Amino acid sequence: MLTLTCPCCGVTAEETELAPGYEAHLKRFGPGSTDAEFESYMFARKNPKGVHFERWRHAYGCGKWFLAARCTATLEVFGTYPAQTTEPPAAILDAIRARRPDWKA
Ligand SMILES: [Zn+2]
Repeated sequence: MLTLTCPCCGVTAEETELAPGYEAHLKRFGPGSTDAEFESYMFARKNPKGVHFERWRHAYGCGKWFLAARCTATLEVFGTYPAQTTEPPAAILDAIRARRPDWKA
């Protein structure tokens, strides 16, 4: 079972207490963007087997959104961080590279 620690309230919660919000760090495109940019933003999502950055909500806890870096194949969690973060923090990237030397961002 996937277990994540909410960075907002510090509670370590099982997957059943959380709601997935899918891919993190999406670059949003709206009016003024090209059709290809908008289509990519609206419909294209990564679905890697391995390291993935995701949005999660502590639905049955504090209710706040946060971001997580985890492996989709093994459920290994590399860390969680606030939803307001625009890029993965250096500490998270270091944790991934320490355990997955071949991983490329
Ligand atoms: Zn929480």
